[in-house]
Amino acid sequence: MSEHTSFKVGGPARYFIKTESIEDIKDAIQFANERALPHYILGKGTNLLVSDSGYNGIIIQLGKFFSEITNLGNGKIRAKGATPLARLARYTINESLDGLHKLAGIPGSLGGAIYMNAGAYGQDISQTCIEVESIDSAGNLHTRTAAKCAFGYRHSIFQERATSFENAETILSVTFQLTPATQLGKTAKDLEREMQECMTKRRHSQPLSMPNAGSTFKRLDAGAAETPTQIAPGYYIEQAGLKGKRIGGAEVSQVHANFIVNVGDATAADIKALSEYVQKVVAEKFNIQLKREIILLGNF
Ligand SMILES: Cc1cc2nc3c(=O)[nH]c(=O)nc-3n(C[C@H](O)[C@H](O)[C@H](O)COP(=O)(O)OP(=O)(O)OC[C@H]3O[C@@H](n4cnc5c(N)ncnc54)[C@H](O)[C@@H]3O)c2cc1C
Repeated sequence: MSEHTSFKVGGPARYFIKTESIEDIKDAIQFANERALPHYILGKGTNLLVSDSGYNGIIIQLGKFFSEITNLGNGKIRAKGATPLARLARYTINESLDGLHKLAGIPGSLGGAIYMNAGAYGQDISQTCIEVESIDSAGNLHTRTAAKCAFGYRHSIFQERATSFENAETILSVTFQLTPATQLGKTAKDLEREMQECMTKRRHSQPLSMPNAGSTFKRLDAGAAETPTQIAPGYYIEQAGLKGKRIGGAEVSQVHANFIVNVGDATAADIKALSEYVQKVVAEKFNIQLKREIILLGNF
């Protein structure tokens, strides 16, 4: 799985199935059920830490068939689950549509972004989402309005469904209602500039040259803080003097304290141990419980 995750760590999956149709997804789940093995839907693996012993089950990834964007007119677009967010953002800029362009620097897929309710620079994917189509483990199709997706900060109903294999759903496509830039007095060039500004901020504030999985911990509840800085886990990690702290090949990034980077030879165990160490130190120093944003897969 080290080849399929942005941390570049993780042992082998027992089976890895790339699906190119809805029938393929159904077959893959049936294949898992017949062998009494668990299955797991993989996006682009950019929010995932897979165990060094790998995953004793079936990894299902959506293939090229599921990377497609359709313009439905009047600011409405539909994209399939494996569409990279970067491609989606670029498409909306080209179509002069406002609402998703600031997500360009998130390296995941649309399915992963909906699952996580990913967001950046004031744009959460849920803000413009109006409908999500998914398929459950029994092969039933579901179409939910955004209101039925239980979106919250880095939360969606798909996380709740995924707690059992029977209920887990694969996100197939998402419909968005975007705003034509002209209605906001903007042009495609303005959207492009805003997107580039976000990308520049990222390049300056994130350790993009080293394998990582984005923010290690979730933002704290706003109520817990007096200033915006104080809801950022990185603030506490830095104040605790943990920037640069290493366990094995895992390091608390020197660039952004809420990122753990793989300095070359990290194991998943190193990364997990370092995240737990950070949680322990921050809890001792500030009485704050950091909650992990990165998802663990496999036995640790
Ligand atoms: C450098 C860097 C910067 C990042 N910046 C941000 C940021 O600014 N904001 C932010 O929110 N995140 C950020 N992330 C984290 C990550 O990119 C997002 O969480 C992204 O949405 C994950 O998408 P993915 O396709 O990689 O999902 P994965 O990591 O593959 O999976 C994440 C979860 O989604 C589920 N999932 C994936 N696809 C589907 C599907 N089709 N159907 C059902 N479930 C699915 C998986 O089962 C898993 O539980 C960053 C990561 C990196 C490496």
